[in-house]
Amino acid sequence: MIIVIKKQKDEKQLNNLLDWIKDLGLGVHLSEGDNSTIVGLVGDTSKVDIDLVRSLDIVEGVRRIQEPYKNANRKFHPDDTIVNINGHKFGGKYFQYIAGPCSVESEKQIIEVAQAVKEAGATVLRGGAFKPRTSPYAFQGLRDAGIELLLKAKHETGMPIVTEIMSVRSLDLFKDVDIIQIGARNMQNFELLKEVGRAKKPVLLKRGLANTIEEWLMSAEYLMSEGTTDIILCERGIRTFEPYTRNTLDLSAIPLLKELTHLPIIVDPSHASGLSRLVKPLSLASVGAGADGLIIEVHNDPPHALCDGAQSLRPEQFADVVQAASVVLPLVNKVRD
Ligand code: PEP
Ligand code: MN
Repeated sequence: MIIVIKKQKDEKQLNNLLDWIKDLGLGVHLSEGDNSTIVGLVGDTSKVDIDLVRSLDIVEGVRRIQEPYKNANRKFHPDDTIVNINGHKFGGKYFQYIAGPCSVESEKQIIEVAQAVKEAGATVLRGGAFKPRTSPYAFQGLRDAGIELLLKAKHETGMPIVTEIMSVRSLDLFKDVDIIQIGARNMQNFELLKEVGRAKKPVLLKRGLANTIEEWLMSAEYLMSEGTTDIILCERGIRTFEPYTRNTLDLSAIPLLKELTHLPIIVDPSHASGLSRLVKPLSLASVGAGADGLIIEVHNDPPHALCDGAQSLRPEQFADVVQAASVVLPLVNKVRD
């Protein structure tokens, strides 16, 4: 249930209302936007007398919400959430590039790639330290040492970093990581979501390989119900019957999510296609569809990459994507900041 409060509100009456809701054992989510104040009620609202609430002087309207996700729902929070990572904003009119290798492989590799993608226009560095591989015999990532190398690259370049967490046991290692990534395979690892949610750090939440948009938003709800506010959703392709591409990019998810949620949404054209030559057209299509950013795999030597070489761009190819997208950005009223 949401309660829309009148613009000229009496603060004392509003506080009385909030106390009354809390006394009913319900959670309160307050959103003070430019045009209205919205009180979201979290929990079993069947005990709330809706007519009584509607009759209050400060109340403009009351609405029951059907969707099972509350905190992530745009009805709760009409204004776009803008996630600010060290001054780089995702959401609203802002657009960002996250780039870097699939996996951190060595100090030389991560620093070289970080410098190159920064030069080309990326503002956040990606790189996997803990890798979710289909085969237990494939490269599993440098793990703790990989996080250390990412922190070194952060120190050298000044770029904030995003990297994937696979287990709650390694949460301590993520203390200086700017954005914690929950990968596609862990989107519904609910214990991990709850623990990461409690850390209240920015999270990049990828869509599961075979998950609906509602399931994805429910995973965001897990993080938010524990207190996380800064969540960036990432569409990375879903599994379909089409074998030419690694996954199928669900472009329609972008404008749909803009209606359903206030959270920013970025696109990963690298994992969506699995093919480096498709990354540029899919990037441009994503910008056109209204995405708030792109996360792109870039490697200084793709044929020798330890993971996902076939979908990795060389730095100069990444620079070309940034150039081409800069023509589309103004058409969708987006700026890089
Ligand atoms: C990744 O970003 O490195 C990754 C493994 O992505 P996904 O979880 O989308 O497969
Ligand atoms: Mn990868």
